[in-house]
Amino acid sequence: MLITFDGAGRRLGTFVNSGWIAVSAGTPDGRHLVLAGMSNAHRSYFLAVLDAERPTGTSPEAAGSSTECVGCPPGGPLHYYVFPRADISAQFAYPLDPPSLVLFGDGRIQVQVLETSGPAVGATIYDFGSDFDVGRVRVSDSFDEWHRRLESAGTLRHPVRECPDRQHREIRHWTPDAGWRMVRTDVR
Ligand SMILES: [Zn+2]
Repeated sequence: MLITFDGAGRRLGTFVNSGWIAVSAGTPDGRHLVLAGMSNAHRSYFLAVLDAERPTGTSPEAAGSSTECVGCPPGGPLHYYVFPRADISAQFAYPLDPPSLVLFGDGRIQVQVLETSGPAVGATIYDFGSDFDVGRVRVSDSFDEWHRRLESAGTLRHPVRECPDRQHREIRHWTPDAGWRMVRTDVR
């Protein structure tokens, strides 16, 4: 959980995520809290945006599921994204390394989703605008190296130039008003 305190040590809010919260930061304008880590329900990475004045509630979970928080404080994020796992990631049981989170001074956010283990980690990089919409999606150079290695091993049966995950991604996006919807974004 993410517990937020004011300067006098009074608790401002408690946010419970079903999965490890690996990184968190405040936006430069002080209006939002951004956190990233694992979503246990989706076995994947997430990015959440909270209202800094009301950083309370839970991650969006299906009612009655094992990841639903029963008895948690009401409330939720303003945005909750769950990132897909690329085919090069399928050989790993679960993402063990946390995603990295960078907040820029103009409000843009960058999340680096690790798809493989190291040393040359295959990664997908998601850029968000200051309105928290998905902007550019791209992959690291080592994504292609990992793909070719898995082609040689017979694990993947298509060349990287025909890789669907190299062309577009379907990202799950949750908002309080719309619930879950899929956002399809080209990989550039
Ligand atoms: Zn592929």
